[in-house]
Amino acid sequence: MNRRELLQGAGSCLGLLGLTSCAGLSTAALRSGSRYADYQQVNATADSVLNTVVGLRPFRPAGYRLDKEMMGDKTLVHNYGHGGGGISLSWGTSHIAAELASQAKHKDIAILGSGVMGITTALLLAQKGFNVTLYADSFPPNTTSDIAAALWLPSSYFDRKLVSSEFIKQDRQIIRQAFKRFLPYINRPGYGVYWHNYHLLLNQQPKVSRALPGGDDLYPDLSSSTQDNLFGYPYQRFMRALMIDPMLYLPSLLRDAQMAGASLTQVRFDSLAHILTLKERVIVNCTGLGSKTLFGDDSMYPVQGQLTHLMPQPEVSYSYVVPAAEGWLYMFPRKGSIVIGGTAVKGAYSTIPNTQLTQDMLTGHARLADKLVLK
Ligand SMILES: Cc1cc2nc3c(=O)[nH]c(=O)nc-3n(C[C@H](O)[C@H](O)[C@H](O)COP(=O)(O)OP(=O)(O)OC[C@H]3O[C@@H](n4cnc5c(N)ncnc54)[C@H](O)[C@@H]3O)c2cc1C
Repeated sequence: MNRRELLQGAGSCLGLLGLTSCAGLSTAALRSGSRYADYQQVNATADSVLNTVVGLRPFRPAGYRLDKEMMGDKTLVHNYGHGGGGISLSWGTSHIAAELASQAKHKDIAILGSGVMGITTALLLAQKGFNVTLYADSFPPNTTSDIAAALWLPSSYFDRKLVSSEFIKQDRQIIRQAFKRFLPYINRPGYGVYWHNYHLLLNQQPKVSRALPGGDDLYPDLSSSTQDNLFGYPYQRFMRALMIDPMLYLPSLLRDAQMAGASLTQVRFDSLAHILTLKERVIVNCTGLGSKTLFGDDSMYPVQGQLTHLMPQPEVSYSYVVPAAEGWLYMFPRKGSIVIGGTAVKGAYSTIPNTQLTQDMLTGHARLADKLVLK
């Protein structure tokens, strides 16, 4: 799934979060014998709300920055700007960042930032025997990475019109590398990485059908259908997809990095000059949206997303994404909660939850849940 595919369906059914006027959503989506007969309804009510969070995706229209530059006697490696796909991409770009940092041949390495990029880069370098210190303002569970939904599907991290064919080619390798590195974590106790049934539902078949990020072979049981779709949508893309629960995954990875020798220092950098006072000669920048001001990257902007966590429902093991007016509406099941979202507002910096939006999301998901009622 890419951003364009998702958005192809968006806008054609505007209303309360895009659901009220969608054509073709029949309540007869489920009948006995249907492939969704064992799908349980999500309990999208105000009583089931645990909390609502807002995060800022670090979007960079030209795609993530992954390179090395010299500043005086310091080697600076950049690994930031992963938009809405950072959890998915993490092992891939961090693998390259770690390679670039290790080429400088200095034992002591500073990693700036302790979101998914900082932690994976630190772990890879600590495992190679480097003395790694993670410097960050916030650590899990207080980073943007902790807020992510987080479906393994690298998407929404570049503007296709602005990236070169070289970027796309390298990105494919990065995605495949990232996927491979997630595999050992699947079902490992305490890491929250698991397969589930994923449904992308659209109001019409996409005009262009591209391979999924990294190649279709990364998505087991991938299929498209124009009938017998979840909630009666006219078009469905189904697959088995990986989910990552950041609440479990990030603290576990951070602990692994510490066990491999990485140490943590809490600090807020206010400028590049401040960063350059660090004792380490090699610095890996994983500050996400922080790079906009710290490194003067004016191309970056936030894409704000609001998620609400509902009481967990162990009986729900499927997910869905449907088009909506502000991005899309999605539901992902976790052990500790049901996550509903997911707005995408370009350039919005506020991280204060919008209560009306929460209410609208609950209404939208409740309407979808109603479609599961057997008729
Ligand atoms: C609502 C939402 C849903 C998402 N869903 C998905 C998904 O389904 N799948 C997916 O793959 N991705 C998803 N993402 C995207 C993903 O969360 C990001 O791409 C990823 O978290 C970026 O990681 P990062 O490590 O670069 O940045 P962050 O997690 O933001 O970490 C940045 C680190 O840098 C530190 N820092 C920044 N500035 C300074 C400073 N001045 N001084 C000191 N420290 C500083 C911070 O404290 C933090 O430790 C989602 C994001 C949001 C908001």
